[in-house]
Parts: sequence; C-alpha cells; structure tokens
Amino acid sequence: MSQRRARTVPAHPELLLILGSSFTVALIVTIVAALLSREHTSTLQAATRSTTNIAQLINADVLRNVELYDLALKGLITAQKREDLSQVSADIQHLVQFDLAGAAPFKGEVLLLDAKGTVIADSSTLQPTPRNFADRDYFQVHATNALAGLFISRPFKIRCDCDQVWRMAFSRRVSGPNGEFAGVAVATMRLAYFDQLFSTLTIGNGSSVNLLNNDGILLAQQPLLERDMINKDLSDRPNFKRILREGDGSFQAVSALSGKERLYTFTNVGELPLIVVVALSSDDVLAPWRRAALLTSGATGILCIGLLWLTWMLRRELRRRYRAERVLSELAATDALTGLANRRLLDERLRLEWDRAQRSTEPLTVLMIDVDHFKAFNDRHGHQGGDEALRTVAQVIGSNIRRPADLAARYGGEEFAVVLPHTDAKGAWVIAEHIRSSVEQLPRVAGDERPITVSIGMSTWDKHGHTSLEALLLSADRALYEAKHTGRNRIVGAPTRS
Ligand code: GH3
Ligand code: MG
Ligand code: MG
Repeated sequence: MSQRRARTVPAHPELLLILGSSFTVALIVTIVAALLSREHTSTLQAATRSTTNIAQLINADVLRNVELYDLALKGLITAQKREDLSQVSADIQHLVQFDLAGAAPFKGEVLLLDAKGTVIADSSTLQPTPRNFADRDYFQVHATNALAGLFISRPFKIRCDCDQVWRMAFSRRVSGPNGEFAGVAVATMRLAYFDQLFSTLTIGNGSSVNLLNNDGILLAQQPLLERDMINKDLSDRPNFKRILREGDGSFQAVSALSGKERLYTFTNVGELPLIVVVALSSDDVLAPWRRAALLTSGATGILCIGLLWLTWMLRRELRRRYRAERVLSELAATDALTGLANRRLLDERLRLEWDRAQRSTEPLTVLMIDVDHFKAFNDRHGHQGGDEALRTVAQVIGSNIRRPADLAARYGGEEFAVVLPHTDAKGAWVIAEHIRSSVEQLPRVAGDERPITVSIGMSTWDKHGHTSLEALLLSADRALYEAKHTGRNRIVGAPTRS
C-alpha cells in the first residue's frame, strides 16, 4: 500500500541544481579561457611591438653607417675624376681622395682599384702595395654590370695571416669619360660593428638579433646560436623565404636552427639588400603568461571542483530530505492502526479520481465497508482484540485491490472505504464479494463461534450517474445502511441516479 501512495522524488530541483552548476562551471571555464587567450594575444603583440622598435633602431643605425661608407666611396670617385688632382702633391691627393673615409666606424681599408683590379690608391698609405682583387665579388659585379650601384659584398676574411676577422665590403663602379669601366672604389668594414651594435640591446635568453643580405647570407648574429654562423647561407630555410617574401612584419615559427618556436620580427634596411631579423624565443616571451595561466587555471580548477563538490553535497542533502519528506508524507497519509491510507489521503484521492473520471468519462466505484456488530466483538475480545481484528480486516481489504490507482482507506472507527477508478459496478461487485467472503472465511478469534463479517455499500459513477462526489458517497453510505438493515454480511449496490 505504502508503495502505491509513495510520491515520486521530484527530479526537477535536482536536475536544475546539476544543470545550473554545470552551466556555471562551463561559463567560468569559458570566461577564464577567453581571458587567457586574450592575454596570450596581447603578450605576443607587446613582444612584437618592442622587437619592431629594436629592429627599427638597428635599421636606422645600419642605414646611417652604410651611407657613411657610400659617401666615402662617392668622395673617392669624385676626387679621382678631378683632372686638377694630378697637379698637386701625392699627400694632398691622398687627403682629397680619402677625405670622407675617416668618419665611418669599424672601417678597414678604402681602396681604389683600376679596371684590372689592381690597387691604385689606398687610404692607409701613400704608396699602395701592389695587390690585385679582380677575383673578388665586389670587383666583378661592377666589371660586368654598369648599373650595380652600391654593392654590398658577402662576408670575407682578408688574404693574410694578420687578422682573421670577418669583414664585408661596399663598392661602387668608377666609370671612364665615356662611361666605360675604369675600376672600382671599395671600402671594407669589420663585422664587429654589428656585434657591438647588437650587444647593446637586451633581448633575453634564447633570442637573437640577425642581419642577413637578400641572398640569405648571414652577416651578423648576436648572440651566435652556433659556431661558424657568419657567412652561412640560410636562403633555403623556409623562414628566410617567408621573410624575404613579406619584407616587413612578424610571425611565429619553429627555428630550423634550434628547433624551438620563435617570434620573428623583421624589416628591410631602407632600400639596401639587407634584412634585420629579431628572433625572440616564444618560451621566453610567453613565460610570464604561462605562469599566470598556470596559476589562474589551477585556481579556476579548484574553484570548479569546489563548486561541483558543493553541488554533489547539496544533491545528497536534497535526496536525503526528499526521502525524509516522503517518509513523513507517507506517515501523514497512513492510518497508524491498519497501515491503510487515512481519511486525509482518501479525501484527496477521491477528489482526484472524481475529477479524472469526469474528464475521461470512465466509471468510478466507491465501496463503503463496515464491520458488523463490532461493538459486541469489542465487548467479547476487548479493545486489543478489536484492534487486531481491524488490522486483519484491513489486510484482507488491501490484498483484494491490485491496480495501482485503487485505494483502500480507513474511513473511521470500524469503517473502511475503497476507491476503484476505471471500474464499473460489475467489476467492483466482484472485488467487493472477494472482500466480503475473504473476511467471512477468516479464522475464528479465540474460540468465538461467530465469524467476523463486513457489510458493503457500493456506488458507481458512470457518465449518466451522480452529479457530485458527495452524491456518490451518500449513495454508497445509503447502500451500506441498506446492507446493514437487510441482514449484514452482504453487498448492496446503489442504483445509478442522477
Ligand atoms: P453494526 O453492525 O451496525 O455496524 O454494529 P456495530 O456494533 O459495528 O456498530 P457501532 O457503530 O454501534 O459500533 C462501532 C464500534 O466499533 C464502536 C467502537 O467500540 C468500535 N470501534 C471503533 N473504532 C475502534 C477501534 O479503533 N478499535 C476498536 N477496538 N474498536 C473500535
Ligand atoms: Mg460503524
Ligand atoms: Mg459496524
């Protein structure tokens, strides 16, 4: 019986709780992920901004320096073309030729070569030692191309044992009066200039500043990532190809040298065939962000786990309360003596089934059951014996109703009521007869010759029947009254009335 009356655990609040907290956790995770991703982007942007500034600084310095060298070359060529120069003394000639050559930093030699590549003037001496540089790239380019302009050579080391430092040369063509090739003005510069320039910049571990020419030859790198990097050809590296293609800008890519991810920022040095590349280690750039992300993710994780744990605890508490409430409500709806439904639940269910029957027009039958001569039974067996008998009768009634919607209740005293939805008079009669005969067949109590019997009044509502629930109950009552007065231990079915 109690199962029949048990209310189901309301699933909605629990579902709402779980959905609500899952949604909150998802929202927190999404917001934190979005914030971290934004922070990641702005960290990279800030790094790109500062490396762009570094690249621009280097760019300006290198450009100014190359211009100084170019000026020295142009000065030398102009002086060479002056016909009046041959009329002055050798040292004045030398002074005029190399007037502008002194200003350039890290300057090596400034030389004037004739059309065969032989040195005819040297900034370091009035009497140039006989040398020939016809095989050098800075000579050959002008010998074969009149429009080469200012040429910047590959790095090289000079052909003597004196000092083995890397140098590069800037050269310009010297043309004769008819535009014919008349030689080359060339100035060499020690690449240490770049090392000194780059070493003044603080860019962090695992990062480097590089200068390359357009052919992918590395001219300078600070700090050196590997030994013998200078003069190395990097033209086949995908990153260099991309840099050459894009000219100015930045991107993130894996370095072919270190195998680590780097943030490359690069710019062309003016119109010169030189490119400054600042390569920052992504690990370095993102290290503060990673620390913050780890901390934030950890805190968020703990928060979410805490939230889910709280939800779990709350759900457990809710379930416990539901169970307690269910037990309480069952108790509140149960008759303490017989274990059947009590009057309160009976009234509730009667109203419910009545309304349902009105809507569905399915029949509804009510049985009113009263124990016969119970006062006398009590007198014979005492109140305790009477209570025991009531429990037994209740058990018989309860066991004779089987459908989930059926309800047996103690109406009051020694009276019971049975609600049988979807049951017409014929079907209900069968049940009532089962109850009546089962009670009659109960074993006699303590040598009592008289069996316990019940009288049953039965009333059925069908679509042509009673106008109200009260009328239906009254009719069942009257039928019971009639059963009492026509001899007891019997069933009387009320006629259907409107
Ligand atoms: P009838 O056949 O006309 O129904 O006769 P009756 O004696 O059963 O009717 P009556 O209404 O006069 O008596 C009902 C008796 O039921 C009175 C009371 O002593 C007894 N009774 C009511 N409730 C309880 C109960 O909870 N326990 C016990 N032991 N007896 C009860
Ligand atoms: Mg009675
Ligand atoms: Mg009675």
